[in-house]
Amino acid sequence: MTMYSEKRRFVAGAICPRCSEMDTVVVYAEDGKDYRECVSCGYKDEMYFKPQTRELETRVNTPEEEKQAQEQVVKILPFDNS
Ligand SMILES: [Zn+2]
Repeated sequence: MTMYSEKRRFVAGAICPRCSEMDTVVVYAEDGKDYRECVSCGYKDEMYFKPQTRELETRVNTPEEEKQAQEQVVKILPFDNS
């Protein structure tokens, strides 16, 4: 599942982590993965989108203890293959 389409799209205001140029970074999907690439220096990086939208939403109104418990669950989940 990808966030972007296979059509390359510039990210407004994005700064390349390698050459520090602004507005040179494009995002696109390839082989089911999302990538960002700098058209100036050729920097290319796979992007990982973690499913934490719900976690971020709940953070606003949850007490500190509950918040930490949710973060624990998120960290444990990828290793729970039983
Ligand atoms: Zn660059």
